[in-house]
Amino acid sequence: MPAIWNNLLHLFFPRLCLLCKEPLTQKEKQLCQGCLHNLPYTCFYETGNNLLFQRLMGKVLVEHATAFLYYVKRGTTQQLVFSLKYYGNKELAYLLGRLMALAFRDTPLCSTADVLIPVPLHRKRERKRGYNQAEKLCRGIASVWDLPVDTTSLYRLLKTDTQTKRGLYDRWFNMQDVFAVKDAEALQDKHVILVDDVVTSGSTACSCAEALLTAVPGIRVSVFALTVVA
Ligand SMILES: [Zn+2]
Repeated sequence: MPAIWNNLLHLFFPRLCLLCKEPLTQKEKQLCQGCLHNLPYTCFYETGNNLLFQRLMGKVLVEHATAFLYYVKRGTTQQLVFSLKYYGNKELAYLLGRLMALAFRDTPLCSTADVLIPVPLHRKRERKRGYNQAEKLCRGIASVWDLPVDTTSLYRLLKTDTQTKRGLYDRWFNMQDVFAVKDAEALQDKHVILVDDVVTSGSTACSCAEALLTAVPGIRVSVFALTVVA
């Protein structure tokens, strides 16, 4: 589109910042500089010693665990996550993935990673939502870290499957969150980065990590979350 039309469009239909609703400049996407600056960053660049790592430690053997932002109820991060989850905002998911990747580019998480795996959605939910927000985050991260994204090796078992697998897992793991692995050889000896949008108790991330560690010889698993509940 010629620049003049772009400018006119922008004049009559300004794109607004998702958070403060002020018009964005042409260079800004989704969020204005001010709102971006004020997000509740965790600064968990020490990927082996932070609140999330400590939460997972003792439940599952992860290599690193870190999160980009604090999840604040009724705060800006909740608005962002709702936009990903309930408003299908794929561009935001991709953008946040890129921001996460840029912020953690100089950490051991990045320098040792081999492949990104999004926490799989329930298939029904993914159909309904049209996309998996964790996968879009991965695509954003992958574009900066130059890594492959694997969306097939780790999958959720159907509810009926989970009934039969019961007992294999600790009761601590939620019944909804039982995962399995296919093509385990492809992940052998790899360092896998599990990506999710929100980590609360960490039970979903632990279930994923547990499934991967059990099925794949020599695998190492880390967790990289967009947000963590403090
Ligand atoms: Zn703003």
